[in-house]
Amino acid sequence: MPRRLMFFIDFDGTISREDICSLMLDTFGGDNWREFNRQWEKGDLTTEECASLVLGKLQVNPVALENWFDQAQIDETFLEFVRWAIQQEYPLFILSDGYDNYISRVLGRYGLKIPFYANHLTYRQGWEITCLSNDNECRRHGVCKTRLMESLLDPDYCSVYIGDGYSDICPAEKADLVFAKDDLARLCRERGIAYHPFGCFSDITAALTRITDEKASG
Ligand SMILES: [Mg+2]
Ligand SMILES: [Zn+2]
Repeated sequence: MPRRLMFFIDFDGTISREDICSLMLDTFGGDNWREFNRQWEKGDLTTEECASLVLGKLQVNPVALENWFDQAQIDETFLEFVRWAIQQEYPLFILSDGYDNYISRVLGRYGLKIPFYANHLTYRQGWEITCLSNDNECRRHGVCKTRLMESLLDPDYCSVYIGDGYSDICPAEKADLVFAKDDLARLCRERGIAYHPFGCFSDITAALTRITDEKASG
């Protein structure tokens, strides 16, 4: 394993304590969004198709929604993890198939400057998704995390993927090292992908410090 690490991190439910997108739909959306979400999880709907179906039912104006984003909490140990990574000069990227509207707001509140890639929520007659990627190779995702990870990864670095959900399984298959919880941990087990379980970011800092120390002493 190369010494230097490059991190690719999911946002919803990984950095944020709750899945902000799901919570937003629970709070302001129609009641059948979970059924569409299940179809998305199975791969029967793309992110764009799923979002078009559920966002039409979103009953909240832009100002109220922005204010609502301000109550989102993050895993507080993420802050220490970021300090540690910066100290080690390990680059970090946030890859989300959610929305930059809340990611930028939440990161800003904590004074975090981390590059992020996500879709965008636009309000015209109603809410609409603007997908980040529109390439033909991956038609499933609004943000294809695998494609992004592959294009951002410096070959001198070891890729570390951290996530919790369905949109994380594809990049997890390609990453050198995986930290997984919840649905992603289950999907990794089902597909025989090696991963380190984690609960919060302090587990990751501890595990990586241990691995790096073993390398240094061995
Ligand atoms: Mg997630
Ligand atoms: Zn993809």
